[in-house]
Amino acid sequence: MPYTSEDCLFCKIVAGTVPADVVHRDEHVVAFRDINPQAPTHVLVIPRRHVENLGALAEYPEELADVVALGASVAEEAGLEAGFRMVANAGELAGQTVFHAHLHVLGGRRMAWPPG
Ligand code: 5GP
Ligand code: ZN
Repeated sequence: MPYTSEDCLFCKIVAGTVPADVVHRDEHVVAFRDINPQAPTHVLVIPRRHVENLGALAEYPEELADVVALGASVAEEAGLEAGFRMVANAGELAGQTVFHAHLHVLGGRRMAWPPG
């Protein structure tokens, strides 16, 4: 699969052609605020590389590790020591709507379990 996909929204955010409230970007990963936040903190952490979902990123272990590590540091920066959730929806039935791998980092309120 090519590194970027032409008509992918998150590839456009990586490229900067679609604006986003970016909180971090580096060689492999970008983190930005979700446009429709589901908690006081709701940040999406994505690899620059276009793959369909987070599991598919396992083919690139260094990039996968960078996504998870950035998720943890976003939570720390946001002061979410008391608890936060990292979620990756895979597939339409799970509620995935953007088919570029992303990790949701949610926090700042009590989370329910099981998720809806
Ligand atoms: P999914 O439902 O695929 O797990 O998550 C996709 C997320 O992307 C949703 O939470 C949605 O609110 C967010 N999103 C969709 N379009 C945009 C956008 O243009 N900008 C930003 N920042 N987030 C978006
Ligand atoms: Zn993409």
